[in-house]
Amino acid sequence: MSEITNEQYNSFLERLVRITHMEPFDREAYVDLITEICYVYGLAKGVTEFYPTPMMEQRGTGEIFCDFDNGKGDKVLIKIRIVSSSKAVIIATLYVNSADEEKSEDEIMQLDTMLRVIMGFVARRRLIRKLEEFGFSDLDGYNNFRAFARYIDIANAENQLGGKAAFHIDLHNFTVVNQEVGRDNGDIVLKNYYKRIQEAIYGMGVVARLGGDKFIGVYDRVFEEEIYKIFSGIPIPYDSEGKKRVNVSAAAGIYILPIPFMMKGYGDIMDKIMMAGNIAKQQAESGIVVYDDTMKERINHLKKVQADFKIGLKNEEFAVFYQPKVDIINGVLIGAEALCRWIQDDKIIPPMSFIPILEMNTDICDLDFYMLEHVCQHLKKWIDEGREAIRVSVNFSRKHLVDVDLVDHIIEVIDKYKVPHEYIEIELTETTTDVLFSDLRRVVRGLQEQGIWTAVDDFGVGYSSLNLICEIPWNVLKVDKSIVPVDEAGSDSTSHKMFAHVISLAHDIGLKCVIEGVETGKQMEILKKNNCRIVQGYYFDKPLPLEEFETRIDRKTYEV
Ligand code: C2E
Ligand code: MG
Ligand code: MG
Repeated sequence: MSEITNEQYNSFLERLVRITHMEPFDREAYVDLITEICYVYGLAKGVTEFYPTPMMEQRGTGEIFCDFDNGKGDKVLIKIRIVSSSKAVIIATLYVNSADEEKSEDEIMQLDTMLRVIMGFVARRRLIRKLEEFGFSDLDGYNNFRAFARYIDIANAENQLGGKAAFHIDLHNFTVVNQEVGRDNGDIVLKNYYKRIQEAIYGMGVVARLGGDKFIGVYDRVFEEEIYKIFSGIPIPYDSEGKKRVNVSAAAGIYILPIPFMMKGYGDIMDKIMMAGNIAKQQAESGIVVYDDTMKERINHLKKVQADFKIGLKNEEFAVFYQPKVDIINGVLIGAEALCRWIQDDKIIPPMSFIPILEMNTDICDLDFYMLEHVCQHLKKWIDEGREAIRVSVNFSRKHLVDVDLVDHIIEVIDKYKVPHEYIEIELTETTTDVLFSDLRRVVRGLQEQGIWTAVDDFGVGYSSLNLICEIPWNVLKVDKSIVPVDEAGSDSTSHKMFAHVISLAHDIGLKCVIEGVETGKQMEILKKNNCRIVQGYYFDKPLPLEEFETRIDRKTYEV
């Protein structure tokens, strides 16, 4: 056979150059090249094998491609095996027919050289592709943080980030979605929601999963309307026909990157979208919060409160205030609620300015136990002093519910002060998810078995569910002031009717009702008309410091 022509050699070179520029590796172009080489050099077969590791090569678990085959290849002419730096193995084998004329040494050398060059490039291309697959997506096929980082790195280098928007989202109640549609379908919902965002971003940004139901990304603001629609809540299908759908929405923190914008580190973007995202998660209404610079101050304040809290707890800066509960038929003081006050530099800080912050982590649990401990000390003191002890309710955040030993921990404190269990009542608030619902039931039952009273707090705020009061054996229903009719409401107004029904339902199922936030004589009239007996409100007293409250215990009754 004659030597190959210049033209053919040039054609190979051209292809070689093209293959090495393929991004990613193009198999068809590779097959074309091997086929042409086989034709020109009169070869019978070309086979390429790819193995991720030498071990897999031994086991024969890899990909084997027959690039060309005229059916007559019965003798190996050249076999080249290369191992890349990542330990991936590529083997290329060229076959001839033994009956054909033997190849010259020159030809074999040409083939050998050409094949090695090609394989070197192919190995690199494949490696890059594999690295992309493993490095930029998680096991479920979602883009991961590195995909997000790569996008912003490139956009930043090209000065393209300014004006775009970055986001962090956390899906609302995804645990409930999982329970409603099942875990497998839940996975499909999650993937479809992600795809919807990806479509809306239209290749001009990125979306990546941080884990669970949390995602981050960047989008071009041209598509903001559609993105907002998705975050606010859209039906997501989880069957192939799109008939079964579930509504998914998210708490979104958005940061609009200023123009010009030069990123120094991922923190320049991450800190802001996380900050806004955290705020979005806490507010009940719209789930979308756009970052602004005042948030930084709020976060600094938040960090300061969290730091001061630890010191405050050690220094006993928290005081128990007691708000009396009064039987409105005879005016007898029948109990009190313990409410926390932070005394800092002689100033009294109300709970609403620090409790929501403490609830962001488990600090609140330390505070609740601190309160319980102090209440037990006071009860013990009253008993020791021969005062008539009364039942005191202590607020316990729902953050405690995950603690499977919560009841034991509570008993431990009460028993330490030898306080009879019936003097303690634990107030818990409603929950919205089923997971917490079962925890709530477990805790309430556990406390009741120990003779400790339980109250559902703030009934009427948020998602009041009848399930909650019917299925959990509470002793007390604390009706929030928000459903106590205001003075101006007529007696046949909806608020009056609703209030009357709630009270009669509670009485029917054997719950005691405590009405909170009663301020006026007119409200008292309404309560009396609806057979409400126990009131906690400014009408009788505000939450009082210990010494002042003790005067009320000693006085025993109020004028009614
Ligand atoms: P809460 O448990 O529902 O407590 C009742 C709140 O209503 C108290 O607010 C009380 O001062 C207020 N209140 C009572 N009567 C009236 C009234 O007639 N009019 C008005 N406008 N308000 C009235 P406070 O003490 O500011 O506490 C607010 C919330 O902070 C509490 O609501 C409770 O959820 C939480 N909290 C207070 N102390 C603790 C604690 O030690 N642990 C936990 N986890 N939460 C606490
Ligand atoms: Mg309460
Ligand atoms: Mg309440």
